[in-house]
Amino acid sequence: MKKLSVADKDYLLSTIRDVKDFPKPGILFKDITTLLNDKKAFKFLMDHLEDRYKDENLDFIVGIESRGFILGAALASKLDLPFVPVRKPHKLPYITISQKYSLEYGVDEIEMHVDAFRDLKDPRVLLVDDLIATGGTAIAACDLIANVGANLVEACFLIDLLELGGSKNLKTRYQIYSILEV
Ligand code: AMP
Repeated sequence: MKKLSVADKDYLLSTIRDVKDFPKPGILFKDITTLLNDKKAFKFLMDHLEDRYKDENLDFIVGIESRGFILGAALASKLDLPFVPVRKPHKLPYITISQKYSLEYGVDEIEMHVDAFRDLKDPRVLLVDDLIATGGTAIAACDLIANVGANLVEACFLIDLLELGGSKNLKTRYQIYSILEV
């Protein structure tokens, strides 16, 4: 599957804004709204993803709330595939299945509609999110997909914050693709 050159990665990275101390002190927030606001960069990113996944015989694209919706839904439309949202609890209106995951203090949960993959047997699924940090959300989403018997082809992230270790952890169980490693 296709990857980007170093120059292409540098270009995309240059369109993402770093915001210090957001949402709390000590966090360097990777703000992708500047990439989305740059039509050349957004098109470049989506063309790359289309190119990488167009021959993978995917059945569904799953996006994680909320920035994973933007990238995932745009890619689903480009690849002429259905889009499935994974959300925080009590946001999806119909019957859901859920997966709990641990936070530093306490637990959280994510949900997906029970009929999201319809009756398809072993559907081929791509998971998309904007960023992987500790990986808690992404691991729960991968497990949710795997637990309903779907085939998770790859989990794709625009940004991988390597030092937080999420991708290293996730890689031991699923195939992942990080476009930009930071
Ligand atoms: P995690 O479960 O720790 O891997 O966190 C991943 C989610 O939190 C992603 O969906 C991101 O949108 C968001 N996130 C975590 N850290 C950052 C950061 N430094 N900049 C932007 N988004 C972040």
